[in-house]
Amino acid sequence: MKVLVINCGSSSAKFELIDMTNEQSLAKGNCERIGIANPIFSYKNLLTGEKIDKMEVPMENHTVAVELILKTLQDEKIGVISSVDEIDSIGHRIVHGGEYYEKSVIVDDEVIKNLEEIAPLAPLHNPAHIMGIKVVQKLLPGKKNVVVFDTAFHQTMPGKAYMYPYPYEDYTDLKVRKYGFHGTSHRYVSEVAREMLGKEDSKIIVCHLGNGASISAVQNGKVVDTSMGMTPLAGVMMGTRTGDVDPASVIYIMRKRGLSLDEMNTRMNKQSGILGIFGESSDFRDLDTARREGNERAVLAYEMFCYRIQLYIGAYVAAMNGVDAIAFTGGIGENSVGAKQHICEALSYFGIELDKEKNEQRLPGNVELSTKNSKVKIYKIETAEELVIARDTYKLTKE
Ligand code: AMP
Repeated sequence: MKVLVINCGSSSAKFELIDMTNEQSLAKGNCERIGIANPIFSYKNLLTGEKIDKMEVPMENHTVAVELILKTLQDEKIGVISSVDEIDSIGHRIVHGGEYYEKSVIVDDEVIKNLEEIAPLAPLHNPAHIMGIKVVQKLLPGKKNVVVFDTAFHQTMPGKAYMYPYPYEDYTDLKVRKYGFHGTSHRYVSEVAREMLGKEDSKIIVCHLGNGASISAVQNGKVVDTSMGMTPLAGVMMGTRTGDVDPASVIYIMRKRGLSLDEMNTRMNKQSGILGIFGESSDFRDLDTARREGNERAVLAYEMFCYRIQLYIGAYVAAMNGVDAIAFTGGIGENSVGAKQHICEALSYFGIELDKEKNEQRLPGNVELSTKNSKVKIYKIETAEELVIARDTYKLTKE
C-alpha cells in the first residue's frame, strides 16, 4: 500500500511516496519553475540516499512534470517502485477548502466543482491544485485521489473567532472570514502534544514557525482560534509576509507610492516580514547570524518576530482561559534554540519555564523542553504534513 503525496503550486510540484504498511517514506522531490525559464528537478531515494540535485530538465507544464516524477520513481537505478501499479492512491495538499470541508475527502466531480468555486479565495494556490489533480487523473487513471485541506482543522472555530467586523454581507456574499492555514501541521502537532501531555482535556498552543508562520489555540482537540486569516498573510510576522498590520496603512502606502493592487500584494507577501526589516534575507539562519554580529536591523527583525509570537501566545492563553502546553514546530520552531528561549523567557509571568540546557542540546525527535517547575509544558515537535496527508489518503481509500 503506497501513497503518493503531491503538493502542486502554480510553478512547482512537490512529491513524496510513502509506504503505509510501515509509514516509511521511500522517495521525495520537487519540480520547480514549471512552465518558466530554467526548470529544475530534485529527487532523493530515501532508502539508498541516492539523489538528483537540482537538475535542469525541460518542464513546459505540470503534465510533463508529473510524467517525470512517475518515470523517476520507476527508474531502474534510482527508483523505488517497479511499476505505477504499486501506487494505490494519491493525496493532494489543498491550501483552501473554504467552508465546504472540515476533513479530507475522496475526489469526485463535486469536489472539483467546489474547489473551482473556492478558487478566488486562494488565487495563487487552488487553481494549481485543481490542475495537479486533473493531471494525475489523466496519468494514473482509475486510482483514487484524496484532497487534504490546510483550512480543514480550523473549521471548528466559533463565529466570534472567525468573523471580521465588516458589513455582514461581505461574509454572506463574498465569504470573507478567517479560515486559518497550516491545518495539517496544527492537527498533527496538537495531537502529538496531547499524547505527550497525557490529558484528554487540554489547552494547547501550537506555534508553527517556518518561512510561513501561524499560531493556533487548540482546546480539547478543537481549534478555537488561529493567527492566519482569510489568507495566509495575517497573523505573526513571517519570512517575507507582514502578518498583522493596520489595514489603513495599506491604503496609505499605496496612495503615497502610487502602487497598484498587485504591486501592494507583492510588497506585503514577498518583500515584507523578516526580509523587509532585515533587508538582506528572509532566512532565519541568516538573520540569526547577522544579529549575533550586531547588525541593528537584524536585531530589530529578530525582536519583532519573537515579540509578535509572544503577543499571540498571550492572546491565546486568554482565549482558552489557560494553557497546558506550548508546542513549537516548523523549520524555526524545531531548530532555533534562540527563538524558543527568547519567546519563552518573555512569558515567565504565566509560569512558563524553559529548560535552557535541554533546549541547547538540540535533541532530535519530539521532546519536552520545560523545567520540572514549569506550570506549562513546552514541547518541540517535528511536524509531518506529508505523513498526515498520506494517512488520511490511506484511511479513506483502503475500504
Ligand atoms: P520551513 O518553512 O518550515 O521549512 O522553515 C524554514 C525556516 O526555518 C527558514 O527561515 C530557516 O532559516 C529556518 N531554519 C531551518 N533550520 C534552522 C536552524 N537550524 N536554526 C534556525 N532556523 C532554521
